[in-house]
Amino acid sequence: MPRLPAPAPPGLAPSARRSFPAPAAMYTGLAMSCLFCKIVEGSIPSTAVYQDELCYAFADINPQAPVHVLIVPRRHIDSMTSAGESDKALLGHLLWAAAEIARAKGLARGYRAVLNTGPDGGQTVDHLHVHLLGGRPLTWPPG
Ligand code: 5GP
Ligand code: ZN
Repeated sequence: MPRLPAPAPPGLAPSARRSFPAPAAMYTGLAMSCLFCKIVEGSIPSTAVYQDELCYAFADINPQAPVHVLIVPRRHIDSMTSAGESDKALLGHLLWAAAEIARAKGLARGYRAVLNTGPDGGQTVDHLHVHLLGGRPLTWPPG
């Protein structure tokens, strides 16, 4: 089972904090246009929180809670809508990674894992991602 690495120090060169090679799919035209593919590949900087062979997790640029981490598959998938049967294990892995990060962040009082999907779901970046939010009481229902 992969273990959580220490968070990458700020300012560390992207190449130095990515020990997992990007899948070949990252170098297709999609990688040239998708924001989160560029973050996974390292051409857009991010603050790494966790990574393994299947996913990359990084701090949200506009945090909505003291802990706000995005967990994305390394392989591009638009959204839950386009996830297929062959993606079932990957979807479970993303939730497992969220739980591992929550444990590592000490979110013992609880947290929320959210997948905004499509326009009505409030999805603004078309690369499937799990939001992990915690560190404060969260209200329900969301807007
Ligand atoms: P969505 O609205 O699609 O559910 O979530 C997209 C998230 O991506 C938002 O919370 C937004 O703040 C975050 N985001 C957008 N652009 C960037 C970026 O360049 N870097 C990082 N770290 N987060 C981003
Ligand atoms: Zn992508």
